[in-house]
Amino acid sequence: MKILTVLGARPQFIKAAAVSREFRQYPFIKESIVHTGQHYDTNMSDIFFRQMEIPYPDHRLETGGLSQGAMTGRMLENIEKIINSENPDKVMVYGDTNSTLAGALAAVKLHVPVVHVEAGLRSFNMAMPEEVNRILTDQVSSLLCCPTETAIKNLKNEGFFTKDVKIVNTGDVMQDVAYYFADKSVKPEGLFANKSQKIILCTLHRAENTNDEKRLENICNAISQLSERYHVVLPLHPRTQKAIEKAKIKLNANIIKPVGYFEMLYLLKAASLVLTDSGGLQKEAYFFSKPCVTMRDQTEWTELIDQQANVLVGAGVDSIITEVNSMLTKDIAYNKDTYGGGSAARWVVESIVK
Ligand code: UDP
Repeated sequence: MKILTVLGARPQFIKAAAVSREFRQYPFIKESIVHTGQHYDTNMSDIFFRQMEIPYPDHRLETGGLSQGAMTGRMLENIEKIINSENPDKVMVYGDTNSTLAGALAAVKLHVPVVHVEAGLRSFNMAMPEEVNRILTDQVSSLLCCPTETAIKNLKNEGFFTKDVKIVNTGDVMQDVAYYFADKSVKPEGLFANKSQKIILCTLHRAENTNDEKRLENICNAISQLSERYHVVLPLHPRTQKAIEKAKIKLNANIIKPVGYFEMLYLLKAASLVLTDSGGLQKEAYFFSKPCVTMRDQTEWTELIDQQANVLVGAGVDSIITEVNSMLTKDIAYNKDTYGGGSAARWVVESIVK
């Protein structure tokens, strides 16, 4: 069985690490990988292939830095050529980026079945590029691998259970990855030594925050105020760095370059709390039993809100600071099974094979 996996952005490399390792357990499966080039800096891309033993991509495209339409269009054109030459039995896509949508569209037009890992998630905010990508990708997929019961419910509400598609609750492959590599950790370069203050691990890169100057300014203001009391470590995404420089916003924190997965594991273990607008990091906080404060108005991971392990604070200065202080003192019950317990990749591959 020939699988063509389409990847392009940081969270996809991390998710694919688990599934790609599982594919290698099956001698009759051959996986080829297309890297679309959506993320291309060494510390946003190559480091993950190296650290997480992901096979080196068989095909590499150059699409980084293009506008949404140009990027997706160029990917579509090139992935179509690759599908025609590789002739795969299935195309695998992950999550909700432009690479996900381009891979799915190219495949379905050539009548190659699409497998979508992380299907069924919804923020119900169509202004997010990710929401558009995930809805369209679900529509053209043949196998929908859902990470949670909430994702299954979303698909049910959209009528997917009356269609000729296979829907499986596989659990979340990011939990597999977190557990598999849990013992690894590498101290990031640029981390201040500071034993007396609690560490807050912060990431910030969602377009809804970086493209809106007021939101970005508020968030930076809150982070700077929190840094007077806590050790806020912020591996800064290149997009956010550009937006902050362009708007000349002041930001005081322990700012470091984006880091690899092992450095993130170090920071997750060292942190007392995670402050983020990332999708993946909200769950990783939970996997490592850390409270999370999410600087967004919605989340796809609503079970974390229900369990009060995560709180949505939008981009208000006071709400961010108040909730960080409050979540740091909260008693939270973490349930390992919320995301499947760490065997999602096995269910994904079994669902493909059966
Ligand atoms: N991540 C990383 N280095 C960083 C920031 C994030 O390895 O400097 C990891 C993080 O631990 C998680 C994934 O990247 O596994 C999340 O990706 P991101 O926040 O870019 O995307 P999202 O999950 O929001 O789609």
